[in-house]
This record gives sequence, C-alpha cells and structure tokens, in this order.
Amino acid sequence: MVSEAENLADIPFGPEDTPWQKTFSSLRVVGGRPYGTPPSSDPRTAYLGVPEVPHHKVQLPPSGLDAEQYTEAESLFRRHIDTQTRNFAGYQVTSALDYEQRLGHYLNRHLNNVGDPYQSNSYTLNSKVLERAVLDYFASLWHAKWPHDPEDPESYWGYVLTMGASEGNLYGLWNARDYLSGKPLRTQHREPGRDGAEQAPQGEGPNAFHPVAFFSEDTHYSLTKAVRALDIDTFHDLGSTRYPDDNPLAPGAPWPRKVPSTADGAIDIEQLGLLVRFFASRGYPVLVSLNYGSTFKGAYDDVEAVARTVRGICAEYGLDHRRVHQDRDANGNHDERSGFWLHVDGALGAGYTPYLEMARDAGMVEQAPPVFDFRLSDLHSLTMSGHKWMGTPWACGVFMTRTGLQMAPPGASEYIGAADTTFAGSRNGFSSLLMWDHLARNSYDDQARVAAECDGLAAYTHQQLLLLQQQLGQDLWVARSPQALTVRFRQPHPDIVRRYSLACETVQVDGAARTYVHLYAMRHLTRQRVDELIGELRQPGAFAPAPPTGATDGGARAARPAVPVADAMAG
Ligand SMILES: *Cc1c(COP(=O)(O)O)cnc(C)c1O
Repeated sequence: MVSEAENLADIPFGPEDTPWQKTFSSLRVVGGRPYGTPPSSDPRTAYLGVPEVPHHKVQLPPSGLDAEQYTEAESLFRRHIDTQTRNFAGYQVTSALDYEQRLGHYLNRHLNNVGDPYQSNSYTLNSKVLERAVLDYFASLWHAKWPHDPEDPESYWGYVLTMGASEGNLYGLWNARDYLSGKPLRTQHREPGRDGAEQAPQGEGPNAFHPVAFFSEDTHYSLTKAVRALDIDTFHDLGSTRYPDDNPLAPGAPWPRKVPSTADGAIDIEQLGLLVRFFASRGYPVLVSLNYGSTFKGAYDDVEAVARTVRGICAEYGLDHRRVHQDRDANGNHDERSGFWLHVDGALGAGYTPYLEMARDAGMVEQAPPVFDFRLSDLHSLTMSGHKWMGTPWACGVFMTRTGLQMAPPGASEYIGAADTTFAGSRNGFSSLLMWDHLARNSYDDQARVAAECDGLAAYTHQQLLLLQQQLGQDLWVARSPQALTVRFRQPHPDIVRRYSLACETVQVDGAARTYVHLYAMRHLTRQRVDELIGELRQPGAFAPAPPTGATDGGARAARPAVPVADAMAG
C-alpha cells in the first residue's frame, strides 16, 4: 500500500512531468527526504489556466529549469503577453512603452527611495534627485506652490508612490483622518492675522473630532478598502447606526452606501450637499473624496462646485476654520485648520486633463473638463497613477498635498536617515526614473497633441459604435460621458472580451442589471484596431440577442453561439 502522502509526492511536476519528489538535486535529498512540503493536490488543476501558457511549462521545480526549458517557457509567456499587449483596449493603462533601450541598464541597479523624498542621508542608492524633479513638474502642472519648502505651509509636499493611486487614496484618507480628528501636524502653522479678536472658533462638541467620509457610487474600490483599513466611518456607517430613521435623501428609507451619481457617473452635488449638511449640522468634520476620471464611466466630478458647496455648508456650522489645541502642549498652543478635507482621486484624469486643457486653449479640441487642481484653495490632497496616462511597466503614481496639512510622521527614523513620512518603507526608486524619463522626452506640446488625439479617438469610437447599433437594430447601450477617454457598451461574446481585455461592469439602470464593457482610447490604441473590434462586433453572435422582457440572465447565456466568434469569423 502506498500512503496518500507518497502519492501526492508523485504528482507530475514541471516541464518534464517529473514526479514531484524526484525534482530535487542531490543536495536537497540528504537523508532521503525532500526539503519542504509536497503539494497537497495537483497545482495544475488547482488554478485558473492560461491556455497560451500551460502551467507545467512554467512550474518551478527545486532544481530550477535548464536552459532549454527556460527558453521554451519564457517564449510561451512572451508570445502571450505580446499578443495581449497588441489588442489591449479595455483599461485606462497605456501599453505602448519604450523604456528598454535607455533604461535597461538600471534593471541591474538597486534604487530605493526609502523615507521622505526631500531628505536623504545614508541610503545613497536612491533616485530622489529625479523624484524631486518629477514632483516639481507635477506641482507646476497642477498649479501648486513649488518648490517644496518645509517652512512654507502653502508650498506643496508629495511623494512618488510604490503602488498606484490606491496608495495615494489610502495615504490621502489617512492624512485626512488624522487632520480632522485633531492629531498633531508635522509643523504647527497659524494663519497670519487670524490671532486676537477674530479668532477662529474652537473645535468642540462630542463629534468635533469624528470625521465622516463621503464618496460617490462611481468611486474606485480602493476607497472602500481605505476607509475599512483606516477605520474611518462613512456617512452610511454613522447614519445607519446613529440615525437609522433620518436619511435626509429619502426619509424613512435605509441610508445609501455611497453618494448617488448622475447617469454620466459624476457625483450628484445636490444630494451630496444634503448628506454633508446632515452631518456638519451635528458637528462632524467632513471628508469628501472625489473622482477625476471615474474608473468605469471616465466621469469628472465638478471639484470646484463641490468645494464651493462643502465650504459653504461647513461655514454655517463653524467647520470651515477652527482652532485645534494640542494636548501635548501645556502652553495652550494651537493650530488652525479646516473642519473638512477634499481629496481628489485623479488616477487617470490628473495625469491627462491638464494637457487636454492646453489643447483646448490652443484650439485643438473644443472642451476640457472642469478645474480640479491646486488652483482651488480648498483642495487638500490629490493622487494620480503613473502607469495610466503616462505609461510605465508597473504600478506607480504621485501623491500631493500642501505642506501645512501634513500630519506628524508616526515615529523616529534615524535608521534610514530621512523622516518616515511616506506609506511604504522601501519605495520603488525605479518608478521615479521612469516618470522622469517620460517627462524629459515629452514636452507639453507633445502631450497636448496626444491628449487631443486620444480625445478624438474616443469620439470616433463612440460614433462607430452608435453607427453599429443603428445597423444591427439592437440597443447596445452605447454611451460616452463628457470628455471621457472611455466608451461603454453592452457586453459582447466572452472571446471578444478576452481578446481585447475589455473591462466588464454590471450597472443598475432603471432597476434592471446591465452588464457593460468599456474600452479606453489610450495612446497605443489606433483607429485600425478600433475598426477591427467593430468588425468583430458586427459578426452574428457577437452580442447575445436581447432577452424577451422578463427573461432571466440564464436565458441570455443560453442564447450564446455554440461556435466561438473567432472561429466562426476565421471560417
Ligand atoms: C485605477 C484607479 C485607481 C487605482 O489605481 P491603481 O493605480 O490601480 O492603484 C483609483 N481610482 C481610480 C478612479 C482609478 O481609475
């Protein structure tokens, strides 16, 4: 009898289907027993497969792969990624990159921007000198006061993210939470002329340091994660526990989880105002996170109008400007700060719309979305993803705020020789190099031209899809929000979804669930590729026939063609 453990140790593993326990080199079987745990089931069936890259070809036996095995595995993966790169159309990420020639050298260099970007000491293998240049570039582009000056509360402070805008959102909300709940700032600032007779009111009342967060239903999932990780109450959390019967949007109805949006995907400012007033009137400080380029519909919240609304309401309840005393300071010293915080999640939009604005001012396009940046004195923090508009081989981004709003870093950091003001410990120093390279080689003029081209391609795609909808005589739900780089439409056959990496999302429209996909007109997308996609969408079976009213989704699924569209078209 063979025990089950031995059977499992015989599971075929690696490119040659070797029994797992025979994949060890002699050193590893000293004493007759392989090092490590055997698989508890066959990993090849445990995971989702990628047909183009068979799992056994890339499995990693303890002996590693020999040169031939490595070459075969790597070329399978390369072919797959190159094909998918060619057709990639569904996400707001630029896939046409050309860093290899110039920057390949640095793949053999360690670059770690640990700690504050403006301080460096013992850890010299960093690219902070480039990071500061990148940050100054964006500070100017976003109309902040620059360069960063630790003595000047109005100057910007920021850093290059190791994750994308998700990290920027997390950091922005963390900063907001500590600021609104009265934690110490990095430096105490008092606004000149504010002392004496016309002193700001003191933050007081049971809720004065209990921030409440507001964001719309079109908000990226990273915000939901951030409020959970940071234990920040949303208006839904507080409303449904403390004021269950008082939903100001619909008296008696349950509180919505998020602020309603318009059909275009922008936050509904009137409803936001009602919700903010409910909490501001009860003394809660207000944290609003806005989208500048929402993930699915590409919608731009009107940041300026929201800022005006929120400031106006907060002013009525003494939350626009208040004194915060520091317990740690026996002299009764205080700083002065607002009782609200506006964060803008500009993952795509903040990297792109400044150039579209330039294109508009140069007469290359007709319109650009509303202002979102530090021209608005009530903007507190802003984030952008580097891999989206700019394009980088991995996630990165920028976080920016004003120096006077920075919270005190949590602890001492003598070990790294720089203040621990960032979210990560070790930070990706290669990302600053990539962004620096991109910005050095693409002038404002270049970027404005590309922005206008992408805007034009989104408009073209929208037109072509509307035409197709007309020709097919079927409602494909084609829509484009104003100035969005994305166009959304009814989800087509899964083969098309996969070939073009189209992102799917189910949206409630008039009480019915609709599954949409969208594509993004990023700079690597061409008219030719759009035409190819439209050609595939025109084929019979590309869309499930519209279900008769009342039919379930199961009915729609059953109506899909038995032959994959690709094969049907090839034949
Ligand atoms: C993509 C995106 C994010 C998250 O960015 P990552 O770079 O994936 O972390 C956040 N917000 C919006 C609106 C996005 O589109």
